[in-house]
Amino acid sequence: MGGGLAGLVSALELARAGRAVTLVERKTYPFHKVCGEYVSNEVRQYVESLGVDLNSLGAADIRRFQASSPSGRLLESGLDLGGFGISRYVLDHKLYQLGQAAGVAFRLGKSVDEILFADNRFAVTLSDGTRLTSRLVLGTFGKRAKLDKSLNRTFTRQPTPVNRSTFVGVKYHVRVDLPDDVIALHNFSDGYCGMSAIEDGKHCVCYLTTRDNLRQFGNIPAMEQAVLWKNPHLKRVFRTAEFLYDKPEVINEVSFAPKKAVENHVLMAGDSAGLITPLCGNGMAMAIHGAKFASELSNAFLGGQLTRAQLEVRYQRGWSERFARRLWIGRTVQKLFGRPWLTEAGVWAFNAFKPALHTVMRQTHGEVLSV
Ligand SMILES: Cc1cc2nc3c(=O)[nH]c(=O)nc-3n(C[C@H](O)[C@H](O)[C@H](O)COP(=O)(O)OP(=O)(O)OC[C@H]3O[C@@H](n4cnc5c(N)ncnc54)[C@H](O)[C@@H]3O)c2cc1C
Repeated sequence: MGGGLAGLVSALELARAGRAVTLVERKTYPFHKVCGEYVSNEVRQYVESLGVDLNSLGAADIRRFQASSPSGRLLESGLDLGGFGISRYVLDHKLYQLGQAAGVAFRLGKSVDEILFADNRFAVTLSDGTRLTSRLVLGTFGKRAKLDKSLNRTFTRQPTPVNRSTFVGVKYHVRVDLPDDVIALHNFSDGYCGMSAIEDGKHCVCYLTTRDNLRQFGNIPAMEQAVLWKNPHLKRVFRTAEFLYDKPEVINEVSFAPKKAVENHVLMAGDSAGLITPLCGNGMAMAIHGAKFASELSNAFLGGQLTRAQLEVRYQRGWSERFARRLWIGRTVQKLFGRPWLTEAGVWAFNAFKPALHTVMRQTHGEVLSV
């Protein structure tokens, strides 16, 4: 349910294993998505093994890291593992094409409205009234969806978080004079902006800020000029770049609250299971890694090697072993950023003691995913 990276990869794996798979996605490929589009090399080999030729799609090879404090103080370093830059427009579309070739049945342009579990089967209702039944459902519908409420997930019952912990994400594709092997993370008051190269000589510029920050200035351009432009690196990019969209892609209500990986017998993968703060730059790798794990266990269940109870226990446990610590570190590191004085101090400290920076980076990444 949901055709981002987690949904596309798990559907592809299960179809290739000979399972009958339906993937429901409310939009129609190709489409843009708010995302920094920097993918950790943790999953590079695996993505290529699925049949995605990153070189021929024009992915940028990213080897260096830059961060700046709100005043513009710069921190530079090599990346231990590195990554690649590719737009979701291109990557998701390629995975969709591979899914089609593998026999995944796509239901596009329709939302999943309801998922019910009874008598050991799922009944799924789509926005056009269609009802699907299945033995297994993977929840891959992303950060925050109406479905979370209809599944009555615990985090949706918690009081609405204060505005400082609810975020807004904004993304542009631009042409700008910046190196194409650098992932930059420029901070500003109550937010940060990632920039890195993608295919066709373009760059992705994507930032996250608090709902409060946007509310205070009323609209995106006013906020950018008043807040982001105080960082000289951001000001230069915003003033000199050629913006390639008519208007930015925007998402609201981004929350990093902890979630469960199995709810109402649905196995959650990707952001539906837990969203890592974009600061750590590897939510996509986690969605891909989680989808591989979910499809392996699902395949064992569908093949009769696991009962449903075993499947759910192993999935929840395996998911926590792989990702829970990273999510916690992501949330902790994010608290360092946003408040200008703390970010200034953080950039100063990491500059003075680079090994600490590499330790934090390693903690937010996993092992290279085996093929
Ligand atoms: C501002 C920002 C910047 C980021 N930058 C990076 C980065 O540079 N690198 C990185 O690795 N990660 C980054 N991330 C995180 C990354 O985008 C996510 O972790 C990743 O997209 C998760 O993939 P997914 O498949 O779980 O979810 P998604 O890619 O969000 O896919 C979910 C899909 O489900 C569909 N859907 C939702 N509800 C329904 C429904 N009811 N019925 C049918 N379909 C539905 C949606 O349309 C969507 O296509 C960033 C996140 C944010 C917010």
